[in-house]
Amino acid sequence: MEKYSDKIKVVVADITTLKVDAIVNAANRSLLGGGGVDGAIHRAAGPELVKECATLGGCQTGHCKMTDAYKLPCKKVIHAVGPVWYGGQQGEESLLASCYDNAMKLAEENHLESIAFSCISTGVYGFPKDKAARIALQTLSAHIRDGYQGQIIICCFSEADTRYYYQVLTTDN
Ligand code: ADP
Repeated sequence: MEKYSDKIKVVVADITTLKVDAIVNAANRSLLGGGGVDGAIHRAAGPELVKECATLGGCQTGHCKMTDAYKLPCKKVIHAVGPVWYGGQQGEESLLASCYDNAMKLAEENHLESIAFSCISTGVYGFPKDKAARIALQTLSAHIRDGYQGQIIICCFSEADTRYYYQVLTTDN
């Protein structure tokens, strides 16, 4: 996976500060806001965001819906609903891969040239961080291989979280 490391940047940041074409939120099925990164995104975007989200009819686990970004410095928000980790026997891994895959499909369809992902499901939803990093990078690499030309950013909230991604980027080929 080494050869993709210039197309996939791992950063430590509050995702609400990133001036990219789209940020990917770790939302819940209601799309009406929650804690963690979802709460931070809604707070920074302002109340218009939840109004738009309320028109979308929720979203299934593994899927994504896109909205405007209102007061955020990015252009769009892709709301991805990650799986809750129940131990790994409930399709969690493929549902998480689906989140990354569907977000990239939206980026491609909408010609988004930069996309920053939060570490979907790895907070309150309890997905093991090492597994999540591997799934994220494998899924994103497949899109680069298939021709996505934009910049992909993995936005970690702490320095400690970056090591899961560097581990995969430096050990896989
Ligand atoms: P989930 O419910 O999908 O697990 P969380 O919001 O609890 O979602 O956590 C997802 C990830 O987002 C975690 O790695 C958490 O540290 C991170 N996070 C929380 N706030 C922010 C933020 N403002 N910017 C970027 N990442 C954040």
